Amino acid sequence: MDIIVLRQDATDEDIRHIIKKLESRGLQANLSKGTEITIIGVIGDTSKVTEEEEDAIRAASGVENVVRIVKPYKLASREFRKENTEITVRGITIGGKKIPVMAGPCAVENRTVLGSIAEKVKASGATFLRGGAFKPRTSPYAFQGLGEEGLRYLAEARDKTGLPIITEVMDPRDIEVIAEYTDIIQIGARNMQNFRLLLEVGSSRKPVMLKRGLASTIKEWLMSAEYIMSRGNHNVILCERGIRTFETATRNTLDLSAVPVLKQLTHLPVVVDPSHGVGKRDLVAPMAKAAVAAGADGLIIEVHTNPEEAMSDGEQSLKPDQFERLMRELKPVAAAVGREI
Ligand code: PEP
Ligand code: MN
Repeated sequence: MDIIVLRQDATDEDIRHIIKKLESRGLQANLSKGTEITIIGVIGDTSKVTEEEEDAIRAASGVENVVRIVKPYKLASREFRKENTEITVRGITIGGKKIPVMAGPCAVENRTVLGSIAEKVKASGATFLRGGAFKPRTSPYAFQGLGEEGLRYLAEARDKTGLPIITEVMDPRDIEVIAEYTDIIQIGARNMQNFRLLLEVGSSRKPVMLKRGLASTIKEWLMSAEYIMSRGNHNVILCERGIRTFETATRNTLDLSAVPVLKQLTHLPVVVDPSHGVGKRDLVAPMAKAAVAAGADGLIIEVHTNPEEAMSDGEQSLKPDQFERLMRELKPVAAAVGREI
């Protein structure tokens, strides 16, 4: 017994009664009130619930049905929620017909460069500004990001352009300050299985974009989403950014088959990051188009006004004119699959 579907006429009293019953069995309830149906997700070791106990819940007042989910992730599963989750941030929806594009530098470098990149990507039709203030660098000697100063520049750029912002958190101790500034919290590939961090962002009310781990299966990735959701934050966006394979021609292997696979398994929106997926500027546009054709709900793309001088990931950053052309070329691709960009 993992999901309890409530009748439309279920009262608050009915719901309280069911929750109490679950809690007396050491289980927790995760209430999700949809427009059409209300559902209780049962959290905990549900395998110990006997058939008799399940029947008793099925017979309780206000209960329409009780469903068992065999998958290890529950709140993230399609069984839990049939319709796609749509997450709206400052009026922009992720998971709807229109495909948002998040664009900006790998790292926030200074106010002027960020400001000019923000203006340029906005003019080309981007709908979010990306940029790391806390950077997960392979080398401890490489530029680590500007920290809170970088968050301030992001917020200033948002004020000027109206673009909502997305930025990465690496440490639970930084969540509070990052949440003060950002519209979406990004969990980077290297932290996909940092479970304490996942639980902490799960307690935040900010939408979270969870990038796929460098060598993670789709199942592991969905379990990580489940960690966040188990704390009550259901606003999770998944981001495919390439996985490590034996291939060295590209930085990673962008697993675009993950997009239709995830569409079957989960109701969560799926964004694709072709920049980290391929690692080379010339390969970003074709993979961005392929991602849209495959059904991606959004794109995140690195753009820099002067990639040669970029403090990180210059080789995969598009120049503003290349980004502008890509945005134009994406339109017919989106239209061909019934979407808009
Ligand atoms: C990023 O998007 O800035 C980033 C570091 O990507 P990833 O975590 O996918 O490597
Ligand atoms: Mn980067």
